[in-house]
Amino acid sequence: MGKIVIAIDGYSGCGKSSTAKAVAKALGFTYIDSGAMYRAATLHFLNNYLSPTIPHDVEKGLKTLEISFQINPDSQKQETYLNGLNVEQDIRSMRVSEKVSEIATVKEIRKELVAQQQRLGKKKGVVMDGRDIGSVVFPEAELKIFMTADLDTRAARRQQELLEKGELVDLEEIQSNLAERDRIDSSRKESPLTKMPDAVEIDTSNLTFDEQVDQIVQLAKEVIENEKNYAGNH
Ligand code: C5P
Repeated sequence: MGKIVIAIDGYSGCGKSSTAKAVAKALGFTYIDSGAMYRAATLHFLNNYLSPTIPHDVEKGLKTLEISFQINPDSQKQETYLNGLNVEQDIRSMRVSEKVSEIATVKEIRKELVAQQQRLGKKKGVVMDGRDIGSVVFPEAELKIFMTADLDTRAARRQQELLEKGELVDLEEIQSNLAERDRIDSSRKESPLTKMPDAVEIDTSNLTFDEQVDQIVQLAKEVIENEKNYAGNH
């Protein structure tokens, strides 16, 4: 099958990551979780008592930051590594969720992570999810999706996810964290979250997981087919 770049952007907790992962699997593509990279950077700053508002700290933090992904041989799931340590659990904690959007407003941090994301997607055949993938990381992506869902649905889904990981968090606390991250992500100066004019919007509030995955896989197959026909005619 032909290789394209699929960019999935949208609000916090819409299920972008799990959807992107399943879409990648269905197409035989690589999945890249850009949010995990901002989360790993946040954990690094927190663990080392570095402040994102002090330029010297930012410089130091970026110099000692190494993020990678590895497949867990038992679960076959992709996991995030920070400086050689598996941080997959830690980066999903509320401690990190509460700080990540502030870290993600810092220009120098974005610049470094965007460069890494562009390197990871260079060979195409990737599905990447985040906030600025269709606008900044891969403005030429062949397929751009903008995912939305109402806040109540998103909070309930996130609560369930945290519960499955053993973290019991109040629904209101999750709602206010999601709303606050949306506010910061949409209003920041650097690469704010916006729906690109060429993105297809999918509201997942009333869709099952399989339905939202199928919709994107279908769109991707159409784009791949069109690319093939175009290449054949030129
Ligand atoms: O996708 P996830 O919710 O894990 O992302 C965590 C945070 O990282 C977001 O709330 C946002 O502040 C930041 N982020 C970003 N740009 C991306 C991906 C994530 O600013 N491409």
